[in-house]
Amino acid sequence: MPTIAIVGAGQSGLQLAFALHRDGHEVTLYSDRTAEQMAASRLPSSNAMFSRNLDRERALDICLWDGEQPLIDYTFCRIADGPEGDLALSFDGRFARHAQSVDQRLKFGTWLNLFSDRGGKVVYGTVDVPTLESIAATADLTIISAGKGDITRLFEVNTAMLTYDRPQRSIGMAALVGCVHDAPDGVYYNIRPGVGEAFGIPMVTHAGPAIAWVMEAVPGGPMDRWGAATDPSSMLDLTKRVFSDFFPWENDRVRDAELADANAWLCGAVPPLVRKPIATLPSGAKVVGIADVVVLNDPCCGQGANNACMHADIVHRLITAAGDGPFDDAFLQSTFDEFWSYAQFPTGFTNTMLAPPPYALAVLGAATQIPEVAHRFCNVFDDPTDLPNFLADPATAEAFVAAAGARAGYAARGRTVAAVPAGVV
Ligand SMILES: Cc1cc2nc3c(=O)[nH]c(=O)nc-3n(C[C@H](O)[C@H](O)[C@H](O)COP(=O)(O)OP(=O)(O)OC[C@H]3O[C@@H](n4cnc5c(N)ncnc54)[C@H](O)[C@@H]3O)c2cc1C
Repeated sequence: MPTIAIVGAGQSGLQLAFALHRDGHEVTLYSDRTAEQMAASRLPSSNAMFSRNLDRERALDICLWDGEQPLIDYTFCRIADGPEGDLALSFDGRFARHAQSVDQRLKFGTWLNLFSDRGGKVVYGTVDVPTLESIAATADLTIISAGKGDITRLFEVNTAMLTYDRPQRSIGMAALVGCVHDAPDGVYYNIRPGVGEAFGIPMVTHAGPAIAWVMEAVPGGPMDRWGAATDPSSMLDLTKRVFSDFFPWENDRVRDAELADANAWLCGAVPPLVRKPIATLPSGAKVVGIADVVVLNDPCCGQGANNACMHADIVHRLITAAGDGPFDDAFLQSTFDEFWSYAQFPTGFTNTMLAPPPYALAVLGAATQIPEVAHRFCNVFDDPTDLPNFLADPATAEAFVAAAGARAGYAARGRTVAAVPAGVV
């Protein structure tokens, strides 16, 4: 069997390592951090994983917190009436099957130890280019799953595939314990058009049930205050003020909240990127990038870890089909092409929600009155390939809302779906 090197022990690298090791491959996983170092690091993600990807983890027997509360059954969507107005739209969409978030510091650290316990080989240390040369010289296939690590700069940005040329949000994230959780629980999806969004993801943490709040500010706008977060206490204060200033209907939920731990926060920005999947090292050796290395999206729709799970699954399948290889350029390129046939949908969904056009907001408006629309929108987070069927363009969206409205009895009862308040669109 071919020998395979995987650089980066996050969602895609660890998951792929588990799958290949189970099949009997000689896999070496390179991790820049031990489980203990991961546990002591800053919160990297809100990590909502949707049901189809939880299934992928179950199949590898690595869905270790399966069924543990808090589970994510709903999306509670609240949209304000413009930059300064009141709450204008509100609907609850139900997932067909629950999602779940586990703090990646806990999840990946536990996975790393489990991989070793199952006999997998882990080498610790940050891989640089000289080290990568020696890895690639001995492995039949070298996969870079280093997320946003510096080594990903080896991969050329594919400018022809970019929608945006810079980050679209300035992001603050804080995992809070002591929040009020709804029962059943779900994603708190708050939008203040022109100002930003605050997404609350119920999360399993070492400190118990938390909500990871991802607060996405339009750069330079009134919510873009993350430069003032210098320590845990200023971050907690800023987080609570974001709610009182822009999402006051969430105030009661976070009033008594505290950070899950002193490192349970992060500030920064994510540049939406698509990169070419093959990098050539100075020696001429080729390595292939997966997941965030090749498709990096803003976290506003919670697709990155789900993409990473999907990409690991695709690469596992392609390696299995290739047998002894060859792992030539055609093979390496196919790992991206097959992924992109899926990833174009979460990428399109994310880029749409970063600047929702009027027809998309009209669908959200209709969701306040037609439960089918609310549930359909909610479930597109789990299966973004449904996007073209109801949210791709004005005509498709209008036809879907009309048909769903008719099914809900609007036409039959002589009612029409009310317009979205003017300030929202
Ligand atoms: C604020 C925020 C919120 C998010 N929320 C969600 C969400 O709710 N749902 C969702 O699906 N996605 C979310 N994401 C995105 C998601 O976390 C990532 O897309 C996902 O973890 C990417 O997986 P990956 O395997 O590509 O890389 P990662 O999971 O980032 O793993 C990469 C690993 O490689 C290591 N590494 C880096 N360089 C090296 C090196 N040179 N040598 C060795 N190791 C190295 C890193 O330390 C890391 O451990 C969020 C992201 C952010 C920023």
